Amino acid sequence: MHEISLVRTIFRTLEETFSTEELGRLKAIELKVGPLANVETVLLQNAFDAVVEEDEVRFKGVALRVNLVPVLIQCLDCGQITEVHNYRFVCQCGKPCANVVQGNELLIERVELGE
Ligand SMILES: [Zn+2]
Repeated sequence: MHEISLVRTIFRTLEETFSTEELGRLKAIELKVGPLANVETVLLQNAFDAVVEEDEVRFKGVALRVNLVPVLIQCLDCGQITEVHNYRFVCQCGKPCANVVQGNELLIERVELGE
């Protein structure tokens, strides 16, 4: 399950970014996820719980929040940015457009540290 390795990558990234002391105060992790990132929110949450339970017990009680962002395309013709619905990659001007400017991301948007 690729969500498991994603969760492990998230923890490694946090370890590289924060000190052990800071990680001890970690309350919540907020992720920014685009629909094209190929990640199921429910599977990600399950994987997070499983990894914490198995070998990252120090992160027990930390909340995982997933902020889903819409897919945005920018027209190469008119420059307008359009939100994509139902995988309809068409600009407001009517031109088909595959120039995705948002929707592929899977990143740590912010973390919450307690006192
Ligand atoms: Zn256009």
